[in-house]
Amino acid sequence: MRLSTFFLPTLKETPTEAQIVSHRLMLRAGMIRQTSAGIYAWLPLGHRVLKKIEQIVREEQDAAGAQELLMPTIQSAELWKESGRYDDYGKEMLRITDRHDREMLFGPTNEEMITDIFRAFVKSYRQLPLNLYHIQWKFRDEIRPRFGVMRGREFLMKDAYSFDIDPASARRSYQKMFLAYLRTFARMGLKAIPMRADTGPIGGDLSHEFIILAETGESGVFCHKDWLTLDVLQNAPGFDDDLQPFFDTYTSIYAATDEKHEPGNCPVAESDLVSARGIEVGHIFNFGTKYSKPMNAVVAGPGGEPVPVEMGSYGIGVSRLMGAIIEASHDDNGIIWPDAVAPFNVGLVNLKVGDADTDRVCQELYYKLRANGMEVLYDDRDERPGVKFADMDLIGLPWQLVVGPRGLKNGVVELKRRATGEKQELSVESALEKLS
Ligand code: ATP
Ligand code: MG
Ligand code: MG
Ligand code: MG
Repeated sequence: MRLSTFFLPTLKETPTEAQIVSHRLMLRAGMIRQTSAGIYAWLPLGHRVLKKIEQIVREEQDAAGAQELLMPTIQSAELWKESGRYDDYGKEMLRITDRHDREMLFGPTNEEMITDIFRAFVKSYRQLPLNLYHIQWKFRDEIRPRFGVMRGREFLMKDAYSFDIDPASARRSYQKMFLAYLRTFARMGLKAIPMRADTGPIGGDLSHEFIILAETGESGVFCHKDWLTLDVLQNAPGFDDDLQPFFDTYTSIYAATDEKHEPGNCPVAESDLVSARGIEVGHIFNFGTKYSKPMNAVVAGPGGEPVPVEMGSYGIGVSRLMGAIIEASHDDNGIIWPDAVAPFNVGLVNLKVGDADTDRVCQELYYKLRANGMEVLYDDRDERPGVKFADMDLIGLPWQLVVGPRGLKNGVVELKRRATGEKQELSVESALEKLS
């Protein structure tokens, strides 16, 4: 992509309405545009990152054996009346009436709808276990939408739903998602701590929230200080292994949200306890037959007897993650994208547009890097170097490759790593090699 034609409406001034750094940087970097309170348009740069995050989530869900489908955003109120949640959900639910006066709603979550799909087709224990997920927009009429995409009203969520014949099998499904979540967040360069959590309106007894520690987080959290240095994936099993020992290890190290934490009854010594703020990026629940019983999602068991299925649900805040990643990875100059979610891998900076040599080498690098599978943003604008460097630092691409007449006289270009600021002078060939 050439920056001269790329739709990247960056802002020079710091937007005053944004209270936290990730929101400020997303606005300044031209990634999002608020269209109503808590509702955002995703501009090309933001959209590219959203797709990267979504894809990592998808790959780990698929690896864990979940199957992707796509359910609609608009749901009928009928299903929610069956489960009893239509009245319980309250004002967070956006209720809509269609032209025939039928009650509809914009889905805040999909337990009811997936249970309805399940009961229509699955009749035997032989078809289990089953885990179905989608990545779809949700709407919750949050009382205080704030912090940009972190607490939007419309937001993108991955939600998976597991169906099992008995509690033991349901625990295994839960453990698979537990592992998939740890892998997902680690791939994005995040340390997410699974914390024992309240199940709230979804119900059930087994539940973990995945929390990123950040001062701007909205949840108060407590954990053993070992979590701060733990590499959760070091001894991680594969999805087909026995996951119980792994699960036992990582649930035995104390971590709880303030709703679950009891100061008088905490197993961790005061000196080992970390009290912090955190961002909830994922939440998993095992809720047994809470929906299958009232909605009659029943299969024939091995002896032909009717069995209400054991269910779980598993959410990831895909759009919230973008804010969380920036909260965890930025400096005074802008965003520092982890490689895995960066909107482009390399920013190619032409320091003197119009200089024949510089243009030629940039052009060559632009084609060769892309031929090697790199995503390149080529700054071919006729702007001062200072402007170009500032913009590159702001949008935070992992690598900056800087080409100018002075370097080329000595046969070199400059390669900068955004995260460390480390710069290296290299020949064009070595730069290409280093970036492939
Ligand atoms: P919160 O406590 O932040 O209100 P929640 O517990 O209501 O979130 P869940 O029902 O557990 O949310 O939904 C699964 C995931 O969806 C959350 O872990 C979070 O990452 C994301 N999410 C929930 N509400 C929002 C929102 N308003 N904006 C962006 N992401 C959200
Ligand atoms: Mg909420
Ligand atoms: Mg919550
Ligand atoms: Mg939650």
